[in-house]
Amino acid sequence: MTEQEALAIQFIQQAKHLVFMTGAGVSVPSGIPDYRSLDGVYAGFEAPEYLLSHTCLKREPEKFYQFVKNLYHPEAQPNVIHQVMAELERTKEVAVITQNIDSLHQQAGQKNLIEFHGSLYHVYCQQCGKSVPVTSYLDDDFHEGCGGPLRPDVVLYEEGLDENNVQHAIRQVMQADTIVVVGTSLRVYPFAGLLDYRSPDAKVILVNKEATQVSRDTLTVLGDATKFFEKIKKSEKK
Ligand SMILES: [Zn+2]
Repeated sequence: MTEQEALAIQFIQQAKHLVFMTGAGVSVPSGIPDYRSLDGVYAGFEAPEYLLSHTCLKREPEKFYQFVKNLYHPEAQPNVIHQVMAELERTKEVAVITQNIDSLHQQAGQKNLIEFHGSLYHVYCQQCGKSVPVTSYLDDDFHEGCGGPLRPDVVLYEEGLDENNVQHAIRQVMQADTIVVVGTSLRVYPFAGLLDYRSPDAKVILVNKEATQVSRDTLTVLGDATKFFEKIKKSEKK
């Protein structure tokens, strides 16, 4: 174990109010590719930013549907990162704020969870507002009940975030004594901006494959996040 890992584990164990901020790197070990790496693969040569935009949903719903279907991995299971976060919630105050739209934190049993960009696994009809099972959506993007167009409850490009989610996330970050950022290089705003609300005394730990300059006082654990979370798991059992 490196010095940084040992210190990070100590901070996590001592934390009373722990906030995890998670990104795509947490889902990759569950077999979910980062959609930003899917450039041009599925729908001609258009960028995923267009294919996941409000404009595309409205103007070219078929194209949107073809692309979004590729983001579903219903067979994916939570990995050790999701599991450890959910286990920590049994012994202390924990909140998870995630950029991920795959609902894997929810599947792992995380209770205090903020899905900042929504979830692919909540689907509703844009005409009548009813919720629809994901399996129906994957069969057909029109509502069997009323014929209206379906969509997943995710925040598309050009769409605003859910204000309740944002306020909830800000409150959690303000109260946190320890914030652990996992699997994201914090380039996506306003998600990354949440850190600005932290208390001046809060400890910030970054667990990522590549280093990111978050702030001078950040403790960085470089490398495979699953390996680090295995170590947290072992230390919790002692
Ligand atoms: Zn409907």
